[in-house]
Amino acid sequence: MRIITHACPDCGTVVSANELESNRVMKCPGLDCEAVLRFEDLSEEEREHFLDNRERYRL
Ligand SMILES: [Zn+2]
Repeated sequence: MRIITHACPDCGTVVSANELESNRVMKCPGLDCEAVLRFEDLSEEEREHFLDNRERYRL
């Protein structure tokens, strides 16, 4: 299965598409990082792939 992740542009902390999708908008989990990450930050192709296969991404 393809792993879709997004790296915070400020600190490089990696979050999974799963987390982004369930929160939609989330504060970066990185220490002392105030960046806000959005599901929309993923590329359109990645979002489509994730949504098409959403059931398989649920753990
Ligand atoms: Zn960050």
